Amino acid sequence: MLKQKSVWMHIGAGSFHRAHQAWYLHRLCQQGDDSWSIALGNIRNDANALLDNLTKQNGEYTLETVSPEGERYYEKITSVRKVLHWDENLSQLVEQGCDKATRVIAFTVTEAGYYLTPQHELDAEQPDIKADLTGKMSSIYGALTQILRVRLAAHGEPVTLLNCDNLRHNGERFRHGFLSFLQLKGETELYQWVKENTRSPNTMVDRITPRPTPDVAERVKQHTGWDDKAPVMGEAFIQWVIEDDFINGRPALENVDVEMVESVLPWEEAKIRILNASHSCIAWAGTLIGLSFIDESTRQSAIKQMAWNYVTQDVIPSLSPSPLDLEQYRDVVLARFSNPYIQDTNQRVAADGLSKIPGFITPTLQECYQRQQTPAATAVLPALFFVFLQRWARGELPYEYQDGVLDVALYQKMMNSSDALSQFVSSEMLFGSLAHSTEFHELMSNTVEKVENWLKSPQQPL
Ligand code: NAD
Repeated sequence: MLKQKSVWMHIGAGSFHRAHQAWYLHRLCQQGDDSWSIALGNIRNDANALLDNLTKQNGEYTLETVSPEGERYYEKITSVRKVLHWDENLSQLVEQGCDKATRVIAFTVTEAGYYLTPQHELDAEQPDIKADLTGKMSSIYGALTQILRVRLAAHGEPVTLLNCDNLRHNGERFRHGFLSFLQLKGETELYQWVKENTRSPNTMVDRITPRPTPDVAERVKQHTGWDDKAPVMGEAFIQWVIEDDFINGRPALENVDVEMVESVLPWEEAKIRILNASHSCIAWAGTLIGLSFIDESTRQSAIKQMAWNYVTQDVIPSLSPSPLDLEQYRDVVLARFSNPYIQDTNQRVAADGLSKIPGFITPTLQECYQRQQTPAATAVLPALFFVFLQRWARGELPYEYQDGVLDVALYQKMMNSSDALSQFVSSEMLFGSLAHSTEFHELMSNTVEKVENWLKSPQQPL
């Protein structure tokens, strides 16, 4: 009897999934293990054109990778075997999610897609969550509720719910948010079933994947001869660390260099604080001095120094001891950001600042104070973001700022008021208990002044 193939359903047809998770599963297929394939869908209707193009190409597309030395490599990715079309009822996602062959449901819905407060509780005041509590499917929670409700009614086979977004303790945080959502929605039976029949291992994902520009397709055509309508590009570096806690089987990911571990904690802390926070720092600072790309921003010595100081003075003491060589990790990260061939935009990386401050930066601020150390180098990051938001409110940013949790009217008013900084620093959502610390308010006030002065002569160090 033929063994039934297993399906990895992925929700979130963004660039990152196709350059990362899909690449690992593709490598497994290339090794002759095609026991798993991907079914790819999306909650929002903003990926329809891509999904249509992928359908026409049988789910196949080219991945272009580029090393810091500029070597480009082209691979046809073949692990996506089913493309799930979007409709308002997410019918194909629901159907695929309740198929017994679907043993893993993974997702990348961005950091803001989990709607969590700084205390990591579900923010039930968010419009998407309010809508989903009435039965809509505008968030991962509403979509999974519908998918799993049907799965439970159909056969109730267990399934792993795998978060692949940049979120600290991403499995746990998602799971807590989801269970809270089910409770609020009064889904008692489903709540109990999810507790017993699903797992949500934490994962750490890494590969810089810019939004593909038209020249990616041109290069792909030139190198491969294929007029690919859905190419994607990323850096050569790739890493995936996963806690080995799957409830209904998993691909043999360890055969393709995925690190299967008991706890991702040391990796994710290093990644989030060193890589992600520095990335945002560089994007905000680069934008403020009129630069468009991450690599050119990183090569500005004053900006690189800000990121280096932040990691060296505040993050490394917070994360030590660690099984990782944190100095080396920092240097590799800054070298990756300087890669001139990636052309990652400051716009992409600057996005979602209101979620990134509490997720990536506030823990380091708090831990410095706990060590009786003033987090002078870390305060630069929210200070840059504050000045960035002021420019946004005045309509002075060179691009549209995207932030999944930005209340436009509220922040417009706040940023244009005479005590904007005080209101910003008083936000518990951003800074937790530090929002009430006079010492932190003073530090932020001094640091914003420093940033404003630096902007007058950005060639000089801060
Ligand atoms: P993208 O802009 O290409 O795609 C974003 C996807 O998320 C789209 O499918 C969109 O429809 C969906 N989405 C956005 N907000 C949502 C919401 N509230 N609910 C449901 N779906 C939502 O972005 P990408 O490059 O694919 O990155 C997606 C995520 O992957 C990032 O936010 C990050 O957490 C993670 N990641 C990205 C990179 C990278 O370099 N791009 C690296 C590591 C991790």
